[in-house]
Amino acid sequence: ITILGLESSCDDTAAAVVRQQDGDLPAILSSVVFGQTGLHDAYGGVVPEIAARAHAEKLDHCVRQALAEAALELDALDAIAVTAGPGLIGGVLAGVMCAKGLAAATGLPLVGVNHLAGHALTPRLTDGLAYPYLMLLVSGGHCQFLIARGAGDFTRLGGTIDDAPGEAFDKTARLLGLPQPGGPSVETEARGGDPARFAFPRPLIDRDDCNLSFSGLKTALLRARDAIIAEKGGLTRADRADLCAGFQAAVAEVLAAKTARALALYLDEAPAEPALAVAGGVAANGTIRAALETLCADLGVRFVAPPLALCTDNAAMIAYAGLERFRAGARDGMDLAARPRWPLDTASPAMLGSGR
Ligand code: ATP
Ligand code: FE
Repeated sequence: ITILGLESSCDDTAAAVVRQQDGDLPAILSSVVFGQTGLHDAYGGVVPEIAARAHAEKLDHCVRQALAEAALELDALDAIAVTAGPGLIGGVLAGVMCAKGLAAATGLPLVGVNHLAGHALTPRLTDGLAYPYLMLLVSGGHCQFLIARGAGDFTRLGGTIDDAPGEAFDKTARLLGLPQPGGPSVETEARGGDPARFAFPRPLIDRDDCNLSFSGLKTALLRARDAIIAEKGGLTRADRADLCAGFQAAVAEVLAAKTARALALYLDEAPAEPALAVAGGVAANGTIRAALETLCADLGVRFVAPPLALCTDNAAMIAYAGLERFRAGARDGMDLAARPRWPLDTASPAMLGSGR
């Protein structure tokens, strides 16, 4: 099966071709990602209208390039998969319209994909993980634990009740005058810092569930920063390093503690090949990754972290999730709806009408 995937739910326009022959690991024949860095700089965040316009302009070119890099024509495809939500509605619409146009022109079947399912199925694309596995999605917009049982079968164990950790890293960087995206700059700044100098909170760590919270951590960091400034008139490099190290240690400790709870629930089901997989940009963080790796090693659970380019937004994951759904018989019609909200643990779009 060979599938073209389209992704345009946030600020990356992407197209990719993925192929899987019976019994083989899937192969990524091409994966093209056009970012929108620069486009939104003046506004301090992604502007939905600008993003949607840019997607609409770039999708055609993106598709052409993905096909060219895969050395395929449209008639070599079996289906077209597209992110149908959740995301910024203008961007999702641009992708869905483009996919519908391609499907109408070629007669190829159309498969709508949940963007989060794309992230959650990535470890099957990269490492062939068997169901069921535990998934920790940690990005700029999301933070949740899922047991993945099938292409459209997920159990959500818990997640953040306020900010996503990537957002917290980005805000921390902003508070300390470090460049965006905040994750990598906070991680770099934290090197050599003393994680124990500031007593940052570990929100919800003692609660016996898989929910997390990161907004209090940000407030604590702001207070610690202001206390230093009030006392000394400014931050030294060492202050910044200690603040970053303390913040990062708190995030890593909370994530590890909640992952331990989620693993206990998951292992209760006695999976044949127990595995924890991570996705999302925050999974690139060395301290967080090390904490999770140690946890898994202690429990005899396989730890899988796909390469960063496949952990962040891309269309190969959409093509692959579409491939699994297509193989299971899923087909969407020209009435496929673009959905701004679409929780993972509810029915697929094929089973729902338009709207929520
Ligand atoms: P989503 O895909 O959930 O809508 P997104 O597109 O913002 O959100 P990603 O592209 O997966 O998310 O990840 C970006 C986030 O990851 C940013 O918030 C960034 O700061 C964070 N990040 C990247 N590298 C690191 C790192 N080394 N440490 C911590 N955070 C990181
Ligand atoms: Fe994403």
